[in-house]
Amino acid sequence: MNEIHHLIGGVEVKSTSGRTQPVYNPATGIQSGTLSLASTAEVDAAIANAAEAAAEWATTSIATRTKLMYKFRQLVIDNSDEIARRLTAEHGKVKSDSMGEVARGIENIEFACGLAESLKGTFSSEVSTGVDVTTVRQPLGVVAGITPFNFPAMVPLWMIPNAVAAGNAFVLKPSERDPSAPMFIAELFQEAGFAPGILNVVNGDKEAVDRLLTHPDVKALSFVGSTPIARYVYETGTANGKRVQALAGAKNHMVVLPDADVDLAADAAVSAAYGSAGERCMAISVVAAVGDSADPLIEAIEARIAKLTIGPGDQDDSEMGPLITAEHRDRVAGYIQAGADAGATVVVDGRDRQIEGDGYFLGASLIDNVTTDMSVYTDEIFGPVLSVVRLESYQEAVDMIADNQWGNGAAIFTRDGGAARQFTLDADAGMVGVNVPIPVPVGYHSFGGWKDSLFGDAHMYGPEGINFFTKPKVITTRWPNPATSSVDLGFPQNR
Ligand code: NAD
Repeated sequence: MNEIHHLIGGVEVKSTSGRTQPVYNPATGIQSGTLSLASTAEVDAAIANAAEAAAEWATTSIATRTKLMYKFRQLVIDNSDEIARRLTAEHGKVKSDSMGEVARGIENIEFACGLAESLKGTFSSEVSTGVDVTTVRQPLGVVAGITPFNFPAMVPLWMIPNAVAAGNAFVLKPSERDPSAPMFIAELFQEAGFAPGILNVVNGDKEAVDRLLTHPDVKALSFVGSTPIARYVYETGTANGKRVQALAGAKNHMVVLPDADVDLAADAAVSAAYGSAGERCMAISVVAAVGDSADPLIEAIEARIAKLTIGPGDQDDSEMGPLITAEHRDRVAGYIQAGADAGATVVVDGRDRQIEGDGYFLGASLIDNVTTDMSVYTDEIFGPVLSVVRLESYQEAVDMIADNQWGNGAAIFTRDGGAARQFTLDADAGMVGVNVPIPVPVGYHSFGGWKDSLFGDAHMYGPEGINFFTKPKVITTRWPNPATSSVDLGFPQNR
């Protein structure tokens, strides 16, 4: 049985808390590991290690930091297969999905490799006679990240590379469901040559999170997870004087106008709704079918669902794997029943798809005639369930998105350039796609939703990531000639 502890000060530290939690392979239901849950004292030890490392790291040259970041990038590339294998074994996602997750994580390391440019600051010469102004960005010290189960490699890589490139030391608290991939990435980080303590990993649950939220040495917290916990993390962290960005749940809409290419829209809907078994914060969970687009689209989606290969993620032909736990699978199945009970039409019922063994599998579901008062619409299901809401007009679709609790992503499918452009202005969401169902920004733009999809004002990674993990300092310089100096109690003006 694989025992997973903590990485503190560059070495594996065996937990003494006595609290553990099993880790499962969701494709078989068999326990594959035992995870130690950190005590408050163990989190304190990680923070103390980070604080010690941060002081020297903050003054390490840009040249050295850049070389180490390139080395880390190469190690992650060279070990992509092993990271992906761990993702599939503990999360359940299929191989191609795991490899995609690693690739999108690497994009963030690549952005961080450009730290020389990101941290350049600005300079204004001669703002007043003999006066120059420089803005620099300095590190915060110890910063922390708390991450969800659905992207155990990519989400830590949204945070760690920029935070470290900017000169901070980092404490990561990964999801307790699939900790092996982030632990392995932390080992690669050590192998790259970063000093011990610049990245520490504490495995744990609420106790560890609460310590990170209250410890005075943690200056900023980056969180990704569900809306209730994101709200709690934001409120508790900010009440304790920390900078917090807390990215949360979602309900993402795909608007299909009557002129859209039906096959293109159906391919996109199926890929975005059922990829990763719907356990993506950018998954499409609602199709807003405008006018007469609904019938042909539903027919095309149904035909594609029938051809989906569902099975263990490590089998080459599997396109969709299991859900993360048996409880989550049962919760998702409950929403299909709730939709039927509320009067929606269950076109494809994922519960009918039987997969051999004790894995947490559920087939893809398609539910038509959904209305906005049904729980299948109002709640984040986080599973392979796609709802179709039939609407008369484009404006009704825009209004529905605006009225929704969340605003992570929204997409439109159309051949009408004017309508598409208007949608990019109208959509009440932080990330918008035009004929792109999952508009996750590249590593050199920043990621973030609106409304209850994000608490705080900084988006994650890219330029906003650098801003989040640094504090600006403005330096005004003057070298006056003593001969012309005099006392002046007036408010200084630029002349
Ligand atoms: P979760 O909120 O259950 O857990 C996230 C983290 O919070 C984990 O590290 C967990 O240990 C910790 N946590 C859980 N309960 C806690 C508590 N009571 N107190 C303190 N900490 C606690 O989320 P999850 O189930 O791991 O991930 C799925 C959720 O994450 C979905 O809602 C999904 O939409 C969201 N998500 C959002 C984004 C985004 O960018 N907006 C990205 C990925 C996932």
